[in-house]
Amino acid sequence: MIQFEGVTKIYRVGRKEVRALDGVDLTIDDGELVAIIGPSGAGKSTLMHILGCLDVPTSGRYLLDGIDVSRLSGNRLAKIRSRKIGFVFQLSNLRSFNLVSRTSAVRNVELPLIYAGVRDRRNPALLLEQVGLGERQKHMPNELSGCQQQRVAIARALINDPAILLADEPTGDLDEASGAEILTLLGGLSGASRTVVIITHNEDVARCAKRVVRMHDGRIVSDQTQPNGSAISV
Ligand code: ADP
Ligand code: MG
Repeated sequence: MIQFEGVTKIYRVGRKEVRALDGVDLTIDDGELVAIIGPSGAGKSTLMHILGCLDVPTSGRYLLDGIDVSRLSGNRLAKIRSRKIGFVFQLSNLRSFNLVSRTSAVRNVELPLIYAGVRDRRNPALLLEQVGLGERQKHMPNELSGCQQQRVAIARALINDPAILLADEPTGDLDEASGAEILTLLGGLSGASRTVVIITHNEDVARCAKRVVRMHDGRIVSDQTQPNGSAISV
């Protein structure tokens, strides 16, 4: 379970302070599918970085499965990430982990293992099948469509069988139909043993998820569970 208690994140840029998150309280139960929506600059990516143990709050607490991870060192956070968390980013986000070019799809899926030394891993070929790319194992990223590349990124995010899958603007560079495919895939990955959080500024994405959390200026401004929104169906 994910519990944020008064999570605040302040960035200092020169003499200026940016309050990217401002006292966020948020609880997400195991197996939930949640869309976090808000305009650019609302603090969504900052929230995701903290959720994913890539960063820690300036103040407030983050309890992950009952453990306060908000004061852990970089090493301990990295361990938690490699055991519990998978990430999917916008395809063209240069600061994120893009697929490695001139490296086959199947190899791209297993790459993070090589870096993280995770032992308890899942089979990359089977993961590619699970995301509908069973026939494309040997293809290079430039031989795949944007939608297929994002599927490879999703397979890669599943390699450590994460309890939490975080997607930051996963449909950002895709056309509408491809975006819908990716959302359906991500939605189908939530359930009993996996929580999925999708971050977006796109209202269409938000309409698909059962629970929608809205952010503005570093705060949660609404948190709604839609009665008939049975997970994602686009
Ligand atoms: P979103 O993902 O909703 O667009 P972000 O979390 O990226 O929002 O940013 C929230 C605010 O924090 C913005 O004002 C942004 O400029 C600022 N910000 C984000 N990351 C940094 C950083 N590393 N250093 C300074 N300011 C940052
Ligand atoms: Mg962002």
